[in-house]
Amino acid sequence: MIVVLKPKTRPDAIETFVSQLEAKGFKIHLSRGEETTILGLIGDTSRLREESFLTNDAVERVMRVTSPYKLAGRAFHPDNTVIRAGNAVLGKEQGNAPLTVIAGPCSVESEEQIIAVALAVKAAGAKILRGGAWKPRTSPYSFQGLGSEGITLLLAAKKASGLPVITELLSINQIDLFADIDIIQIGARNMQNYDLLKEVGLSGKPVLLKRGLSSTVKELLMSVEYILAAGNPRVILCERGIRTFDPYTRNTLDLSVIPWLQKETHLPIVVDPSHACGMSWMVPPLTKAAVAAGADGIMVEVHNNPAAALCDGEQSLTPAAFAELMRQLAGYAKLEGRTL
Ligand code: PEP
Ligand code: MN
Repeated sequence: MIVVLKPKTRPDAIETFVSQLEAKGFKIHLSRGEETTILGLIGDTSRLREESFLTNDAVERVMRVTSPYKLAGRAFHPDNTVIRAGNAVLGKEQGNAPLTVIAGPCSVESEEQIIAVALAVKAAGAKILRGGAWKPRTSPYSFQGLGSEGITLLLAAKKASGLPVITELLSINQIDLFADIDIIQIGARNMQNYDLLKEVGLSGKPVLLKRGLSSTVKELLMSVEYILAAGNPRVILCERGIRTFDPYTRNTLDLSVIPWLQKETHLPIVVDPSHACGMSWMVPPLTKAAVAAGADGIMVEVHNNPAAALCDGEQSLTPAAFAELMRQLAGYAKLEGRTL
């Protein structure tokens, strides 16, 4: 961290400030110019708040040089994190660049529905089954999910298909029911629910954290930091579209975030084109774009009867459309030497 002092700050004020910082355990690199003095703080500055320096009359400006997301960043963890759930792998390692597809309905609706979708997406090549038990709906009058029964049915589909499963945790109170769930999803609306993040940080299970509807990438990474700092290194990032000025799609898929996050962090990134565009016909081209941009995985909504779906039918692929998309993706994967 660099602290620029105001021009003509008196030497005794500088000395007092330096002693205060040294007392806090920092080594100070002092650079005295004609007009301005600059202090370089050496040590763990992650817990310091820039604003707290500005209360000191001698301080003109404060700049951070190291990133505030120390655990998520690549500086201290240059190698990719690879996360395993059942037979599924997320993240690129030496000699292995899997392209992992997560598929399933927006919400679990019945035993027949979730098992039929599980078997269909598995046959098409999906490696992880999704299905919501608790749904975060905009309207309290919309279908809220089957709750704990949804978890039971999802676990039945896990057994029937052999696929690992992912489902959203909406509240800390539900976590005991997640014992056999393979990946915990934290939804976009809860990206900054810090108590929930700390709780999944203690769970030790892989966590897929979705980017908030209006969250910056830095905010996403600071949320990740909560999970990592609580002791859970198994975090998967998910871009699911953000809200912009233009409503022609449900959200705006931010593809640039894929290379950006891969440069900044060591964590795998999954793209959810379904919630990004909100229209099933647009899911295949966006999926291919996300793969071309380097996504480690894709999460797609698939429903056995989209027209009758209780949630997000308009953006759900039929099993047949999903199988066709997987056939096309196989060509892309081969081109890039990736395993689908
Ligand atoms: C979902 O994946 O079912 C979901 C609700 O997504 P999001 O949190 O991205 O809106
Ligand atoms: Mn959905």
